[in-house]
Amino acid sequence: MSDKKILLVAACALVDADGRVLLTQRPEGKKLAGLWEFPGGKVEPGETPEAALIRELAEEVGITTKEACLAPLTFASYSYDEFHLLMPLFVCRRFEGTARGLESQALKWVRPRDMRNYPMPPADEPLIPYLIDLL
Ligand code: C5P
Repeated sequence: MSDKKILLVAACALVDADGRVLLTQRPEGKKLAGLWEFPGGKVEPGETPEAALIRELAEEVGITTKEACLAPLTFASYSYDEFHLLMPLFVCRRFEGTARGLESQALKWVRPRDMRNYPMPPADEPLIPYLIDLL
């Protein structure tokens, strides 16, 4: 049995009216810098994944949404050297605000079939086919 820590991160595919999904680029100085990911972040103790996502979307990209607008789609489970990541991916089509990089990160609205052109963390990449199927 591995004694690796489990890290729970909630991630979101924000989908715009054209069926494009928001990707954010991990900034310099962070682990996996330069890679493109679904926005989201760590679930803090006592939080639900949905509550964490609502908080992170507001903090990171200035988007407001509600729990009822978050539909679970799939789940990433990936072992990094330092921890094992569990990451539910939600889909959200109803949200308010214009996405902007509040932590100086670059943003891009991307069609799921074009996501292969955006290098992603290894945990995020296996999620792409679920979005291609859905959208
Ligand atoms: O974003 P943050 O650095 O808090 O995330 C913690 C870790 O979770 C990252 O270092 C990365 O290894 C992983 N992660 C990921 N895909 C995401 C978000 C986080 O693989 N979309």
